[in-house]
Amino acid sequence: QYGFVSRDSGSSVYKATAEYLLQERGHDWKRLPPNSSSFHLMFGERNKLPFGRLGHDPGRVNLVNYYRGSDILCRKTALVKVFKEYCSIVKYSYPKWLPRSFRIFPKNIIKTNLRNSNQSLVKEKPDDRAELIAANASLVTEEGSSVAWIAKITSGAKGDGIKISDNVEELLQYVDSHDRAFVIQRYIRHPLLLGGTRKFDIRCWVLLDAWYNVYLFREGVLRTCSESYDPNDLSKVTSHLTNHCLQKEQSANFGQYEVGNEMFFDEFNRYLMDRHGTSIESCVLPQIKDIMKKCFHIVKEKINTHGLGYVCFQLFGFDFLLDENMKMWLVEINGAPASAQALLPHLVRSIVLTAIDPVFPPSQPRDGDSWFTKIA
Ligand code: ADP
Ligand code: MG
Ligand code: MG
Ligand code: MG
Repeated sequence: QYGFVSRDSGSSVYKATAEYLLQERGHDWKRLPPNSSSFHLMFGERNKLPFGRLGHDPGRVNLVNYYRGSDILCRKTALVKVFKEYCSIVKYSYPKWLPRSFRIFPKNIIKTNLRNSNQSLVKEKPDDRAELIAANASLVTEEGSSVAWIAKITSGAKGDGIKISDNVEELLQYVDSHDRAFVIQRYIRHPLLLGGTRKFDIRCWVLLDAWYNVYLFREGVLRTCSESYDPNDLSKVTSHLTNHCLQKEQSANFGQYEVGNEMFFDEFNRYLMDRHGTSIESCVLPQIKDIMKKCFHIVKEKINTHGLGYVCFQLFGFDFLLDENMKMWLVEINGAPASAQALLPHLVRSIVLTAIDPVFPPSQPRDGDSWFTKIA
């Protein structure tokens, strides 16, 4: 029998995965106390995993549910840094699917560091302000008033710490009124709109297994706005930010167009065929697979567990925007994504089949198939 410890109370997906192992795989799996030092599988606390203590169990493999260091994809500033470094080292041109992005550190962080320092000369932490101002100036020359930017706090979620504006100075002041790093990113001003009126983003789930294989989950979900979109009014958050919590709390029309402001791939596929003569298969999937492969390729040397005594898997949530030219843009990567409620049982079963069973083979034949397909 295998044993797991479950310390990740913050993740609804891994909580459900632990329950699944007990209910559907009770002959193979048992739950161990959270502080057990000997186990096969750990659902650990994100960012607090005791990686240094893993892998010292003689003759036993430890499997954990986060890749050490995967935050370089999942913190917004780190993702920008990782791509900029990669581009400068391998002369890869900046990806066409990542909106141009700049890392901005509030000035008051810099001042605090200065005050607390004994040294008389401390260099300000350099950021990308100058490049942002220059990029804005040249874009405005080329494209006129269509240029806008979105400021996003680095480890924010659910639409918190976000401001959209076509005035870069105003965004820099907004960042300077905070004490954490931000990304200021080109705002996708002309997204494809549902029914020609409402913005949406697309969430896809991706699994990285212990051998660094990348799998895409068959289902994805559109998260829709329930207020109409106006590219010339950047102030109304419920028209511009698609986050589920934000729509639920702030839009009077929540749920009026789609149940829970969610549309699944089947319906979206019919919509694309009817309205745009294309499909998810031909228009969305090839683009997102390329993006996902590139992201994991770039950080492979930094996060893989080669030569360590433990192995990892991790579920990621990729957020995309589709623009009116049918081009997909990567907006962010989440390292501990929740599941749409309707998909949770399938996601959980698929995680077990694809990421856990190959490491700890089940003693009996298993039911059902995985909704994850290998893409790299
Ligand atoms: P969070 O972690 O808060 O979800 P996101 O980066 O996903 O942060 O941004 C929240 C929402 O803001 C996205 O779901 C999308 O609707 C909108 N958004 C984010 N970045 C852009 C962008 N570059 N252009 C247009 N809309 C964006
Ligand atoms: Mg997020
Ligand atoms: Mg998001
Ligand atoms: Mg995030």
